[in-house]
Amino acid sequence: MSFSYEIKDILCKTEYICPGCRRAELAGFFSFPAKLRSNATHYLCSGEVISKRIAAAVNEELGISAVADRRRILLGNGAAEKLQSALSSDAIINDCCAMAYVRGAFLTSGSVSDPEKAYHIEFATASFDEAQKMIRLLEDVGLTPRGARRRGKLVVYIKESAQIAELIGLISGGMAGLEIFSAQIEKELKSSAQRRVNCDSANLKKQTKASVKQLMAIRKIKKAGEWGRLPKTLREMGSIRLENPDLSLEELGTLLDPPIGKSGVNHRLKRIIEFADEC
Ligand SMILES: [Zn+2]
Repeated sequence: MSFSYEIKDILCKTEYICPGCRRAELAGFFSFPAKLRSNATHYLCSGEVISKRIAAAVNEELGISAVADRRRILLGNGAAEKLQSALSSDAIINDCCAMAYVRGAFLTSGSVSDPEKAYHIEFATASFDEAQKMIRLLEDVGLTPRGARRRGKLVVYIKESAQIAELIGLISGGMAGLEIFSAQIEKELKSSAQRRVNCDSANLKKQTKASVKQLMAIRKIKKAGEWGRLPKTLREMGSIRLENPDLSLEELGTLLDPPIGKSGVNHRLKRIIEFADEC
């Protein structure tokens, strides 16, 4: 299974946050790649989990007949035309729906590289308007996508690892971002020569996992706009962790003024995680 498909498999397990999310996902799925032909009788997907999820949503959300048949969605007579008009108005009601739209677009025309090899996520479309819309939606959540033309298609892409992790986290309801983020940090850790000497791989894994958890907590608090509510000592601790994802607790402690020991650092980071759980 390709890495892209592994991610799509996880995305197909994502629950809809609000009642509008399902329609938004369908709009992204059917509008983003290119306009569905009004006389189309089937739609090809890259996998069975996708055809099943989308066909079910077409049936239940729009009351239009569609059947999943392996990688295809079979459309009944006139169904494509009905789909087109049902999805023609703007389907994005709430912020969560915007991410559902992006998820739908990714399911049908997105791909992401295995972070062990390269950092790249992209969406391909034949429509200039849809490409512009995708760029706007991604910018609205603080990402910096770029656009390019490739083999007659418009491609919207991101190459920064942390942004890719964040985007996948957003469209998967947080289910898939962590793994990518963890792979990224592990890579950074591995590239540090000193780490290679000092840490065995079990230790490295443990340290990476803890660091990822702390970073996710810090980002969550910031995103929720609650960072200012943390006590100053915790904010200092969090900022230093954010700038140094690959340092051990002892090393983090030496960067504080005045310096503190390993258990003090551990205690503060734990409090940050507890605080994030409440956000
Ligand atoms: Zn929604």
